[in-house]
Amino acid sequence: MSSFLNPQYKELEVYTPGEQPQDMKYIKLNTNESPYPPSNGVLEAINSNQAELLRLYSDPECKALRKAIAQLYKVETDNIYLSNGSDDILNFAFMAYTGKNRPAVFPEISYGFYKVFAELYGTPYEAIPLRQDFSIDYKDYMGLNKFIVIANPNAPTGLCLSVKEVEEIVSSNPKSVVVIDEAYVDFGGESCYPLINKYNNLLVVQTFSKSRSMAGARLGFAIASKEIIEDLNRIKFSTNPYNVNRLTLVAGEMAIKDNDYYMENCQKIIDTREFTTKQLEALGFYVIPSKSNFVFAKSNKISGEELYNRLKAQGVLVRHFNTEKIKDFNRITIGTMDDMKTFISTVKKILEEI
Ligand SMILES: *Cc1c(COP(=O)(O)O)cnc(C)c1O
Repeated sequence: MSSFLNPQYKELEVYTPGEQPQDMKYIKLNTNESPYPPSNGVLEAINSNQAELLRLYSDPECKALRKAIAQLYKVETDNIYLSNGSDDILNFAFMAYTGKNRPAVFPEISYGFYKVFAELYGTPYEAIPLRQDFSIDYKDYMGLNKFIVIANPNAPTGLCLSVKEVEEIVSSNPKSVVVIDEAYVDFGGESCYPLINKYNNLLVVQTFSKSRSMAGARLGFAIASKEIIEDLNRIKFSTNPYNVNRLTLVAGEMAIKDNDYYMENCQKIIDTREFTTKQLEALGFYVIPSKSNFVFAKSNKISGEELYNRLKAQGVLVRHFNTEKIKDFNRITIGTMDDMKTFISTVKKILEEI
């Protein structure tokens, strides 16, 4: 850290992304990426003469892709906002709606970035504990009239609130924005975006990183009332108007066109998740029922950390969080069926060794 840094950032505890080690080839089940490649349409689009056009700036309004997403979701183009990954949208939401006198509320166990954004903007925050079974009690979020952000399905648990429960939260907080982070909604959850037609304070955030195999392209989108989309644009045009690059925009358009391919992959991942859950349960694991592309599981024979370390030594990466309440668990991304068979047989071997 330099002595020049604004003191307000000196204590900031940064977000720790899942590791992306380059030393050997791992079976990567640690950052919830898709095991399937982008569609042929996407691959062709970004291999074509689009690369030549990189000398030109991208469309700052991202019109074509916003229109394509709006058509798919049956909303207006003005209800869609695009950004450089959904983290960017979450950042803008905290920037726009929170601050020293504008507190934030989110679940205690959830996506680790919420706390980082709150600290970045000097926002006081309340992290509300989950129930004993790791589920979110929607009643804890009613009538707060504070900025609320909830991942649904939640991470790293994989558990969902129903659309009805989300509606209770949104309708009881009319004076503040409620962000529903739907990074994993395509793996068996139900999106609450239709509620934007009824509530102007709901901001739904989705990403192409997980269900649409484009984590490296950085593309996220928001669905919300026109007023909220205007707020996000106000910040975008005050920071980086070209925040979605050309290749990502054409890739995104093709991904929407090839939606069926991605939804088939999601179904494969759901089936593989159910297989993995059964196998882990047969090995004595407690597995939280997941609606995501990961499972959160703990063994009755080995600690979370030791299992993580032993798997890594065998070339299988999973995610372990050193947080007291969840340190017995590992979060395991669902890969291909072959990946998961290897994962299960590696776990079996480890359990026999100890
Ligand atoms: C992965 C993830 C994100 C970030 O997605 P990007 O679009 O890659 O920035 C946001 N929220 C949750 C809950 C996630 O798991």
